[in-house]
Amino acid sequence: MVNFKKARERMVETQLAARGIGDARVLEAMRKVPRHMFVDEALRDQSYNDHPLPIGEQQTISQPYIVALMTESLGLSGGEKVLEIGTGSGYQTAILAELAGRVFSIERHPALAQRANQILQQLGYQNCIIRVGDGSLGWRDDAPFDGIIVTAGTPAIPQPLVDQLAMGGRLIVPVGDKLGQDLYKVERAPEGIRKTNLGGVRFVDLVGKWGWKE
Ligand code: SAM
Repeated sequence: MVNFKKARERMVETQLAARGIGDARVLEAMRKVPRHMFVDEALRDQSYNDHPLPIGEQQTISQPYIVALMTESLGLSGGEKVLEIGTGSGYQTAILAELAGRVFSIERHPALAQRANQILQQLGYQNCIIRVGDGSLGWRDDAPFDGIIVTAGTPAIPQPLVDQLAMGGRLIVPVGDKLGQDLYKVERAPEGIRKTNLGGVRFVDLVGKWGWKE
């Protein structure tokens, strides 16, 4: 039987800090959130390993390092309003809920959204809300957002998400083909939109109006 707390500590030291994740708040959140609760019981022993895991509906919970890298890139200091596209297991949602003021998350598979919601409730997170739908359209009613994170790969940056960024806001999004993408940070600055390539990643597809077609 794995000691989950120890496995989490080891994950933070060997997979995150050792690879350059330096934001103390992000490391603390990853030390705290019980990742094993977001995966199927049969896979719990692997939940702190250095790779993604299946969560049903042919989707995955992302590798811990990728969760940390994307979260750190949002530059959260607390109190922000954040939008997540692709709730999946709800693990990334919990990390965001630890670091931001309010988290809005959208998932296209109702079964995943329901399970994620259940676990987040059970763990006591009260500052996140999950909706079922096409997240490539964003969440207009509650825009603008200080941070937007897309946890699925898209052929191009969905324009509604750029439009829903607050001034100074950051959008983190994997853009590329189905086999691999580059992770982009898109910032809305007074001078205009600034894009930075953060490096290569591999995600499941963002399926929707502004992503891949079904
Ligand atoms: N953040 C998740 C976690 O911590 O478990 C990982 C998410 S998984 C890599 C990507 C998720 O995006 C899948 O659950 C998938 O169903 C969802 N997805 C794909 N296209 C979507 C869309 N247009 N709107 C909302 N969710 C979408």
